[in-house]
Amino acid sequence: MVDADHVPHALLLEGPAGAGKFALARAMTQYLHCDNRHDGEPCGCCPACVQHQTFNHIDTLFSFPVVKKGKTALSADYADVFRDFMEEAPFMDFDRWLVRLDNINAQPLIYVEEGMELLRRLNFTGHGSRYKVVLMWLPERLKEETANKLLKLIEEPADDTKFIMVSNSPRGILPTIYSRTQRVEVRRYDDTEIARWLASEHGVSAEAAREIARLSGGNLNTALAQMGNSHRSKQYLDYFVRLMRLAYQRKIVDLRGWGNELAAEGREPIMGFYEYAVRMLRENYVYALRVGSLNAMNAEEEAFSRNFSPFVNERNIEDLMRVFDDARTDIAANANAKLVCFDVALKVILLLKR
Ligand SMILES: [Zn+2]
Repeated sequence: MVDADHVPHALLLEGPAGAGKFALARAMTQYLHCDNRHDGEPCGCCPACVQHQTFNHIDTLFSFPVVKKGKTALSADYADVFRDFMEEAPFMDFDRWLVRLDNINAQPLIYVEEGMELLRRLNFTGHGSRYKVVLMWLPERLKEETANKLLKLIEEPADDTKFIMVSNSPRGILPTIYSRTQRVEVRRYDDTEIARWLASEHGVSAEAAREIARLSGGNLNTALAQMGNSHRSKQYLDYFVRLMRLAYQRKIVDLRGWGNELAAEGREPIMGFYEYAVRMLRENYVYALRVGSLNAMNAEEEAFSRNFSPFVNERNIEDLMRVFDDARTDIAANANAKLVCFDVALKVILLLKR
């Protein structure tokens, strides 16, 4: 498209989450702006490329869903947070975006103020690039009034403006917007591609890469999370085993020590552990029902679960999982980690006896 100068004025990349659509949109925009592009690759060293690689290209506007806080409703208000997020999660893991917004239960949107701001900024003359590009992440989160503001711009844009939108759920996009875009479907990666990528880019052993690929369903974010989990899972299993043993023995003082130790790990690892605990509880519940084929535990986890699984049953499974889910929400909302971790331990004591 770029080489033939046929980039549509409103392009929509649609496809499943974790398929690398936004990374593709960013690469395409860099290629569009590059002064020395050739054969599908940007040069990587011209001023435009350098600006892109440092997230500072002046004619590239990022537009994305945010949480409204008082008068703060613009993507520009979250520019630094978004830049960190893109560096941390180049495949745009939505859950991590919620963590960045400090609220994993938030429903971020693209507000009407953002629509007005885009109109205003696109009215300025470009800073030397042939094209101004709006990279819009998740147009399915456009509020209707925002969409109405942008409609004319998307339908009859200035010659020098391109909209590149990236959607995980195109059915959620307002039809007025959707019908004005040219769509390109981006497929998910297959297991072989994911395994090869994990091995070459992340140094994962071939066997582990195949296993992670099998569990990630073509989603690069899930693959990265699984990779991180397998790194941490030994540590998490240790926390889990100690919590359950101490709770069973009602060792309150030791449980306080356990909570303090976990609290000292920091926010992300604590949340990771709570997620891990929910998964382990689910696996143990299934284990007790003897549905072997659904078992997704490694050998060490299974060794513990052989004895532990009878304690997870239909009387406590929902409440147990909720304890860890709620704790994760509290930690995401910056609650006192020591209190939350100790509170979890006390609740587990009561629920294990059911
Ligand atoms: Zn370049």
